[in-house]
Amino acid sequence: MTETLSKSEEVLYEVWGSTAIISLNRPERSNAQTYPLLYALDDAFSRAVEDDAVRCIILRGEGKHFSSGHDTVAGDINDWKRGAARRRMSWPSHDGMSGAERQYAAEQEFYLGLCRRWREIPKPTIAAVQGACIAGGLLLAWVCDIIVASEDAFFSDNTVSMGIPGVEYFAHAFELPSRVAREFLMLGERMTADRARDYGMVNRVVARDALLDEALSIAAKLAEQPRFALSLTKQAFNLVDDIQGKRSAMEATFGLHHLAHSHNRAETGRSILMPVKPK
Ligand code: ZN
Repeated sequence: MTETLSKSEEVLYEVWGSTAIISLNRPERSNAQTYPLLYALDDAFSRAVEDDAVRCIILRGEGKHFSSGHDTVAGDINDWKRGAARRRMSWPSHDGMSGAERQYAAEQEFYLGLCRRWREIPKPTIAAVQGACIAGGLLLAWVCDIIVASEDAFFSDNTVSMGIPGVEYFAHAFELPSRVAREFLMLGERMTADRARDYGMVNRVVARDALLDEALSIAAKLAEQPRFALSLTKQAFNLVDDIQGKRSAMEATFGLHHLAHSHNRAETGRSILMPVKPK
């Protein structure tokens, strides 16, 4: 049975056998992420974590695209009022703050904090990516253990064109070889699913109509593995990434990200140079 996890049905939750399928459900906006959507997504992940019968989690998007990124039109931080949701991280609400602190606190929670929280889910996660996976869309794919993409999938981070040195969860240099990552971010061009697989950012590329079946097939195999061993294996890889600097690099680059937001705001009155266009 499909359940919805927000009043506006922005995230759908289903369990098929031992697999939870979590679907972003704003196809009319190419699954652009609003703040309520992020909390509905967190609710869905929490539910899957708490359910003993769920052994693996698939994250996917309804419609043509996986996710076109953060919805900077509908999701301006000014629209997100204090108390509208239970905060998950330790920073207080940005509501009522001013200056650089306001957006810094907001993004500690919404982007960096939630993404790290999802990366540490102690069950295997699979992203099933079709169509666009842009900027904030990358965050959702990158926090998963395995990424399956359809042949029509493409990946890009266009934030430099908005005056920002990459999305908040700065994993580019861990997802791609350094020189490829520089090209990816500096030019902001689309990377095809095949090229992403060649560099190891994507595990498998399949036909569009086989995408969910492929993810389910991987999930079924994972469900046969001992649960605790999988949790520890996941922790081991996360630890190795962090020993290699992933977490501390993200801390450092998050500061640069907010220097850019502050610079843009001082120069233009907006924290980014232009709004993300609907895809
Ligand atoms: Zn930001």
